[in-house]
Amino acid sequence: MTFKLACGDVMPGCAQSFDAESREVLLGQVAEHAAAHHAITEITPEVLAAVSSKIRVTPA
Ligand SMILES: [Zn+2]
Repeated sequence: MTFKLACGDVMPGCAQSFDAESREVLLGQVAEHAAAHHAITEITPEVLAAVSSKIRVTPA
């Protein structure tokens, strides 16, 4: 399975997108990007919920 997220779905205007083979890896990429580009250094339950709702899963 492939887990995909378009950052712009969560942070309007951001063109970054991610894909990974597991949800954990994807969230790691997102956390790194959010800290570097959006000054979001803490993944709160609210942030996690917003991100999780936008993750698309495609069968590999
Ligand atoms: Zn972004």
